[in-house]
Amino acid sequence: MDSPIQSYLRTLHTELAGLKDGKPFGGIPAMAGVDPDRFAICLATVDGYVYEVGDSGEEFTIQSISKPFTYGLALSDLGLEAVDRKVDVEPSGNAFNEISLAPGTGRPANAMINAGALTATSLIKGSGGKTGFRRIVEHYSAFAGRDLSVSERIYQSEARHGYRNRALAHLLRSFEIIEQEPDPVAEDYFRQCSVLVTCRDLSVMAATLANGGTNPLTGKQVLDLEVEERVLSVMATCGMYDDAGAWLSDVGMPAKSGVGGGLLAVLPGQLGLAVYSPPLNDHGSSVRGVEASRRISHDMGLHFVRAARTGR
Ligand code: GLU
Repeated sequence: MDSPIQSYLRTLHTELAGLKDGKPFGGIPAMAGVDPDRFAICLATVDGYVYEVGDSGEEFTIQSISKPFTYGLALSDLGLEAVDRKVDVEPSGNAFNEISLAPGTGRPANAMINAGALTATSLIKGSGGKTGFRRIVEHYSAFAGRDLSVSERIYQSEARHGYRNRALAHLLRSFEIIEQEPDPVAEDYFRQCSVLVTCRDLSVMAATLANGGTNPLTGKQVLDLEVEERVLSVMATCGMYDDAGAWLSDVGMPAKSGVGGGLLAVLPGQLGLAVYSPPLNDHGSSVRGVEASRRISHDMGLHFVRAARTGR
């Protein structure tokens, strides 16, 4: 028999399956054929339970949800101070692909927009070389608790059409924010966006962030607490593109969405939530993902202020 949480998620899933607004991402040609009706909701607790409904085992590309994880790896590799010299922690209020570089220095506003994410990728030990991307995918895999792989097809398509991201990488190189050759860094970034995950993986990745950086399924420590605090802070202020303020007020959890249709949210100390549904709103976030998170947060009292008050 279903547990109360499982049957709540099942009812919500059925209800929101009727929500047909939004359109799947059109910016990467190989992503165009995606089925807009694919839909999954997963919730993973810090004590290792995973509740899943819908297409929770279906793989899709992680896209911008990669950004907080690569940022965490850069912070772990170099330390907070060195990374802060290259990427700021201020919300830009702009769309994900806005230029948003500080006048004079060229320092990107934060690591959740593309300019900051490219910079974070450039800071990984081995970036642009033989080991950089392998380290990135191993890091994501430790979060998910299984070996992740890349969609070569989507990587090729993104690399072929990634004029703006390549231009950004070159611009960052001209400011010496990126210090090495910019093209191999952009390739690593395209590859990291093309890592395949399931909704279940995203919920476990979120639960690992909720659990002080230790994966609740494998017991492996993936991030230390100082880095985890920083990553969640930047997700809270900048994770939902130019909708971050409205999101934090309403849903009240650090979160990150990606144009592949995935979205994850973290209630520190408690749980990770993930939704997959490809049609996107005007901010580039999954329509059903935003609505499901809003409903779950309200119904279960997960807004961080309320959760702290009820000791949830
Ligand atoms: N690969 C996409 C880009 O860099 C990711 C965008 C996103 O998910 O927001 O344009």
